[in-house]
Amino acid sequence: MHEVSLCQSVLKIIEQQAAEKNYSRVKTVFLEVGRLAAVEPEALYFGFDVVMKDSIADGARLEIIDVPGQAFCSQCNNRVEVKQRFDACPKCGAAAMLIEKGGELRVKELEVE
Ligand SMILES: [Zn+2]
Repeated sequence: MHEVSLCQSVLKIIEQQAAEKNYSRVKTVFLEVGRLAAVEPEALYFGFDVVMKDSIADGARLEIIDVPGQAFCSQCNNRVEVKQRFDACPKCGAAAMLIEKGGELRVKELEVE
């Protein structure tokens, strides 16, 4: 289950920011999760609680911000919404599109004390 290792990277980012900015406790973590990132929100919530235990973010709330997938098709020059990474262009059927959004997993904001 790769959600646990994702949560561990999130914790590293949190600890780094906490050290830089002198946070004593993290209350809420806002995490952008792209729909193309192949992450199960359920597993993420579960892994989050386990990984954050006894850290600066122990008991913190996880807020998942859903980021829809977006790609650019260079065949027809359209920007389209995609549900999967290798979807063909819905407008012209081209197979190779450039993914612009939706693959990310990023700490957007921390609510701290
Ligand atoms: Zn197209």
